[in-house]
Amino acid sequence: MPGFELFGSLEQKETNKVLETGVLMRYGFDGPRKGQWKAKEMEEALAKRMEVKYAQLLSSGTAALTVALASTEIGLGDEVIVPSFTFVASFEAILSVGAIPVLVDIDDTLTLDPKAVAKAIGPKTKAIMPVHMCGSMANLRALANLCREHNLLLIEDACQAIGGTYEGKPLGSYGDIGCFSFDYVKTITCGEGGALITNNAKYYKHADHYSDHGHDHIGNDRGKEGHPFLGYNFRISELNAAVGVAQLKRLDDFIAIQEKNYSIIRKELEVFPEIKFRTVPEGGVENYSFLSFFLPTQEMAKKVQIALSKAGVDGCFYWYDNNWHYYKKWDHLLDLKSLGKLPMEVQEGVKNQKNNDFAASDNWMGRNLSFLIKLSWKEVEVMERAKKIVQILAQHL
Ligand SMILES: *Cc1c(COP(=O)(O)O)cnc(C)c1O
Repeated sequence: MPGFELFGSLEQKETNKVLETGVLMRYGFDGPRKGQWKAKEMEEALAKRMEVKYAQLLSSGTAALTVALASTEIGLGDEVIVPSFTFVASFEAILSVGAIPVLVDIDDTLTLDPKAVAKAIGPKTKAIMPVHMCGSMANLRALANLCREHNLLLIEDACQAIGGTYEGKPLGSYGDIGCFSFDYVKTITCGEGGALITNNAKYYKHADHYSDHGHDHIGNDRGKEGHPFLGYNFRISELNAAVGVAQLKRLDDFIAIQEKNYSIIRKELEVFPEIKFRTVPEGGVENYSFLSFFLPTQEMAKKVQIALSKAGVDGCFYWYDNNWHYYKKWDHLLDLKSLGKLPMEVQEGVKNQKNNDFAASDNWMGRNLSFLIKLSWKEVEVMERAKKIVQILAQHL
């Protein structure tokens, strides 16, 4: 990761097909587009690769989450459970439909702790949104059981884990809806883009209409199409989709490269009994975009990260201190700093969370280091990197 590292002739070829027609919009213009339907092409390929019936391409991963929530009829005052460790987009999407993000502890999977989720379910809860951070997943079976028991939706934020699997199913296809991001720094990229996948015909139809101003897409005259309900514009452009068509063809190669590089580094680190690797739930296979582990103490994790950076080992993340990925720095959310007035339901639902105890999350996040696994490394570079990490760990453990 990221897919832009290997941007090349296939991406150029697909993009040129769109540039040759000049039709940059995904709908309409049937004549001038001369058979080029890049968004549709990518949707078909994505649905096939993810073994689902439907895929809807969108303008971003944030848009995918927003459209997923809207399509399942989540709205004002509904509660959606999200982890304390995620990218801000997860809660932004929830806020954008008037719903309340309820932050819940993570465990040693670095994703939602099912026991903490069970405690957070209340009368307003409508959905559980596990976020497969850094390439791996939560215990989805336990979460799906909770959903069944309480009649909730399971919405997977798989933006960072495309290509991973759980119980033999592609991540994103396990829940009611799964969301992907194809922004510039993700495993595969469209430049900007995203998608949702589902087996539910109703949710798909909602997503198809909602993301294009409510257009019902019946007939071949856009101006005459009906609008059965209100929508918005979350469309992707044909140019972005063309890049994605090429990158999706390369997904399995990218995952294989990541697995190879990840395995080389991991094997070297297994000499340290003090290190605990992130738990991957039984039945889960990572997409190997990150290698994550826990050190014995928070102090040690901080020191090791600084030493690695001094030694020129880049791409080592200490998320605990990160401005965008961990609740500790989300004062704009917890202090409700919005430009316009937020709904009362949201204000009240979020306000109460400021003093919540996330000691369990802090325990894991404070000791965690995550290493980005790149696609462009040569094997000798990976070995050198592994040796440097081993050397620095040996000095601190
Ligand atoms: C990248 C990301 C998103 C948002 O995707 P964009 O395409 O950047 O809007 C959402 N959730 C997670 C976990 C992400 O990493």
